[in-house]
Amino acid sequence: SGTVIGLDIGGTKTRGVRFLNGSPIRDESAGSSNVQNVSREVAAANLAELFGKIGGGHIDQVYAGAGGIDTDEDAQALADLIAPHAPGARITVVHDSRLLLAAGGAGTGVAVIAGTGSAAWGKNDAGEEARAGGWGYLLGDEGSGYWLGREAVRHSLRRMNQGLEPDRLSRALLDSVGVEEPGKLIALFHSPDTGRRYWAQQARLVVEAADAGDDMSRALVEQAGRDLAELAEQAVRQLGLDGPVILGSGLGMNVPRLQEAFKARLAQHGITDVRILQQDPVFGVPRLVAEQRD
Ligand code: BGC
Repeated sequence: SGTVIGLDIGGTKTRGVRFLNGSPIRDESAGSSNVQNVSREVAAANLAELFGKIGGGHIDQVYAGAGGIDTDEDAQALADLIAPHAPGARITVVHDSRLLLAAGGAGTGVAVIAGTGSAAWGKNDAGEEARAGGWGYLLGDEGSGYWLGREAVRHSLRRMNQGLEPDRLSRALLDSVGVEEPGKLIALFHSPDTGRRYWAQQARLVVEAADAGDDMSRALVEQAGRDLAELAEQAVRQLGLDGPVILGSGLGMNVPRLQEAFKARLAQHGITDVRILQQDPVFGVPRLVAEQRD
């Protein structure tokens, strides 16, 4: 306990909370400091901004959950960026999905992140851990915000191929990104002015069109839910568990249609203890700190 800084480093933002004896006393955000997605310089600048708001004074520990942490080297590189902001503090860097399971109040089970990216991770009573997905947007990230945004672009391009006028989803996308016709989406998609976060933010258009009754958008949102369920099922099976499965992050917490498709697919696999996270993963930090043995 004492003073702990918890960080949740996702593909779009870094959320930082300062905890005093387990209770949050400052809660702020800055841009992403996920070194898989932004340069070291940008990550360092965003961390500096965040520590400017929640750092200072005596800090016992910094506990960070971050996307894109796949090896010890990845974790060390991020710890090195954090260290100057918390001299003398213990620094722990883990994969972001660990925060989610703890934030869901579960010691064992599988956590599924559905945010800018996606990943499933879990652990069982024997202390075994398993992961599925979380390969980043170029290799995977099924069911993520980025995936939905990119599918909206691909849908618009397919209609163009077929000589069809833009439909509701295509129209919303063209308006949102400010181009007049689908062909221009190709250059924009590959432009350095857009990127992973930018396209992930377009996911909301698909969700809105689905809510307004657009069949294609409904199909995409439901596909995202099923793909996320498959990731969860793979981790559950590796661990020999039957639950709980906890779904969290931006899309996971806020899109009922996706949640329903997620639950329905898991039910087909016999997994019925499925929970939706009710708070940001960063609030799992006090539990993880308390669980540390050394
Ligand atoms: C990253 C994972 C991360 C996931 C959720 C993916 O893009 O590759 O490491 O867990 O997003 O944030």
